[in-house]
Amino acid sequence: MQAYHLQQMTWPEVKKALCTVKLAIIPIGAHEQHGPHMTESCDAVLAERMAVKLAERLHPLALVTPTISMGVSPHHLNFPGTISLQPETLIHVLRDMLVSLKHHGITTFLWLNSHGGNQSTLSIACQKLTLELGVTIYYAKTTASASDVFKEHITSKPYGHSCERELSEAYYLAPELIREEEVQRGQLTENPRWRHLRPGQPLQGFYRYEEMTANGCIGDGTQASYELGEKIVETALTRLAEEIQYLLSLEESDQSEKQYSKKRNY
Ligand SMILES: [Zn+2]
Repeated sequence: MQAYHLQQMTWPEVKKALCTVKLAIIPIGAHEQHGPHMTESCDAVLAERMAVKLAERLHPLALVTPTISMGVSPHHLNFPGTISLQPETLIHVLRDMLVSLKHHGITTFLWLNSHGGNQSTLSIACQKLTLELGVTIYYAKTTASASDVFKEHITSKPYGHSCERELSEAYYLAPELIREEEVQRGQLTENPRWRHLRPGQPLQGFYRYEEMTANGCIGDGTQASYELGEKIVETALTRLAEEIQYLLSLEESDQSEKQYSKKRNY
């Protein structure tokens, strides 16, 4: 399978690709602790691998840009090694990437994000940069569209960080991220505060990961498998590819309608 991956291309190759490319996929991750059994690059690597697989399915319509390998992770900072961006920094980086890519003629973007902590920043950035730059931006959490698949197979409550879902995705996409001999369950704390602030509770608020979990994990990594990862990832890729193709086709009919309107002068 073939994909346009900007980091591995020369400019004449890019020039040729731009004749067919309609969409730039920007993988967005994080650099943060993932417990004792996953390396800190986890989100960045998973986002990039997913982006390349999605570009393969959309070939020759999509091009993968360099990965933004750090994200908004202040809640993980008290574990060694985490590097966190200010939300404004992430928005500035995205803005500069979009301006550069627009210069090359690309005006439709997919931000493929694998880190939950980036989502609220991406929501603001999408609105702000769409209006400011006159481009089309879509954003998605890498495997959220397959939530029915992982809900069917995952029993730990809560789960969501270096857990059976994330480890399964890594077994399938990037097994080198995993310290097989260290795989363990999340060690949730007795501290009641964070449970009252989880999504779905009446009140929300900021809490740090060490308030919730002693080893940095939420969920049960020991239940992870390559097969579950394959099912989650391939289901999400199918749904993302279908959705993108549909939205691109809407843009195309919108363009021809605009050109037709131009001819008609209204
Ligand atoms: Zn992660």
